[in-house]
Amino acid sequence: MIESVELYEILKKEKAELLEKLEQLRALGQPSAERKEGSPYGKREEGADEASELEKRLVLVQRLEESLNEVEHALQKYEAGTYGFCDSCGQPIEQGRLEAIPQASLCLRCKAQQAKETKGAR
Ligand SMILES: [Zn+2]
Repeated sequence: MIESVELYEILKKEKAELLEKLEQLRALGQPSAERKEGSPYGKREEGADEASELEKRLVLVQRLEESLNEVEHALQKYEAGTYGFCDSCGQPIEQGRLEAIPQASLCLRCKAQQAKETKGAR
């Protein structure tokens, strides 16, 4: 059984790694600054490869930012003394789940419920 302080260390390390990756990606260029919506040069054929590279990078940055948000949220919960408890129902999150995903903020049941609702909304 992993102590929550160990998970806290894992989360802190995870956060540092995510920040580093984001910095590297951002150093490659400023996707948001380069992206001109509705620009007069907005023809799809031109620079399509470049655009898709940019898209991929944007998606990656977005994913990293989402992960970073989750990790930061978990760290905040740790500091608030609510780490390991479900955001939704307040019940303790399964230990095995926390070991697999230290940044998990929902218990399995609420997570499943959320997935169901998201699916239904589409
Ligand atoms: Zn729950």
